[in-house]
Amino acid sequence: MLVVGGGPAGSTTAYRLAEAGVRVLLVDKATFPRDKPCGGGLTVRAVRQCPVDPSPVVEAEVDLLELRFRYGDAVERRAAEPVIRMTQRRRLDAFLLDAARERGVEVREGTTIDVTDAPADIVIGADGANGTTARAFGLGEGIVHGVAYEGNVPYGAVSKERYGRRAVVELGEIPGGYGWVFAKGDHVNVGVGAWQSEGPRIREHLARVCRAHDLDPSQLESVRGHRLPLRRPGARIAGERALLVGDAAGLIDPVSGDGMYECFVSSKLATAAVLDLLEGRSSSLQAYEAAVEEALLPLHNASWKLKQALDRWPRLSWRVARTQLLWRTVERLLLGELSAPTEQQGLARLPLRALDALGRRS
Ligand SMILES: Cc1cc2nc3c(=O)[nH]c(=O)nc-3n(C[C@H](O)[C@H](O)[C@H](O)COP(=O)(O)OP(=O)(O)OC[C@H]3O[C@@H](n4cnc5c(N)ncnc54)[C@H](O)[C@@H]3O)c2cc1C
Repeated sequence: MLVVGGGPAGSTTAYRLAEAGVRVLLVDKATFPRDKPCGGGLTVRAVRQCPVDPSPVVEAEVDLLELRFRYGDAVERRAAEPVIRMTQRRRLDAFLLDAARERGVEVREGTTIDVTDAPADIVIGADGANGTTARAFGLGEGIVHGVAYEGNVPYGAVSKERYGRRAVVELGEIPGGYGWVFAKGDHVNVGVGAWQSEGPRIREHLARVCRAHDLDPSQLESVRGHRLPLRRPGARIAGERALLVGDAAGLIDPVSGDGMYECFVSSKLATAAVLDLLEGRSSSLQAYEAAVEEALLPLHNASWKLKQALDRWPRLSWRVARTQLLWRTVERLLLGELSAPTEQQGLARLPLRALDALGRRS
């Protein structure tokens, strides 16, 4: 069994398979610890799906969400308990990979492999947004892309009192995305996500978010960008003997840009599909695709609608987004109490219906 890529999707798939007694080889072209452009925010719903407790690498917790519109109007929502646990990917990914190694996975770092030549019976593509496994197996057609760009500013240059325990989200100005300021241990992470077509303007978007928070863009450290792969329903992510997990499968949430929850959900479903094949309950890995759609499509369909609503009707969408009623659903989603907004009951469904309607109107 070969796993290509040792990010959160690959390491946790390898971990779960080794735990089930499967012999796993994991290769990654990088040598760990390596970084990955990312806000590093683990929602509680993501933590609940992760097979390894990430607490040793969590450096801050967020229980305050500040939603802002066009760098002006703002609302603050306080959660009853922390909803996001902040990590740095350099540390998180090395920690998860070590956990897989300790479970018995053979890990080869600094290694690339020609997957079509590899003598492996089953191949898991976990090689991220720019990986090649998908193409090698004729998978991944129909994944579209967003782009994100981010950097760090140390506390001192920015006030910990202002940003500590807080995730600030800037809506209404960036097509297909938003800006953010996330609290970390000794710094804040400032970033922007957008449609890929915003690539040429992405630096200016990031500079604008900085200025809105009284930061000089030149104070940003470790500024990096990366693609956000977004799967459309029907895009193939499993074949006879190969399947894709995490970003390689384009499983990023279209509106939040989060992908780690999806890494852990897909690693769980991939493990089940592989065990079914190895233990003779199925003859191929193809059932994995339907399992992923069942688990993630209700959430991602709602996210596509919200993304369209925010793009087409920013001011109206903002009026709905800032309501206390919507916050009830957002909080439950972040905590993993709902797997999709459609599961929300009662009055709190009203703002969801409004956003759904706005997302459909053109
Ligand atoms: C700026 C930005 C901010 C984000 N913020 C958040 C956030 O706050 N919270 C969240 O949940 N998500 C966030 N995301 C999304 C998140 O980063 C991804 O969903 C996540 O990294 C996907 O993990 P992965 O394991 O699928 O892929 P990756 O983490 O990209 O890992 C892929 C691995 O494959 C290896 N690899 C690639 N090609 C090969 C090859 N040919 N052979 C061997 N190895 C190979 C790479 O070296 C890498 O280690 C953000 C994304 C961006 C771009």
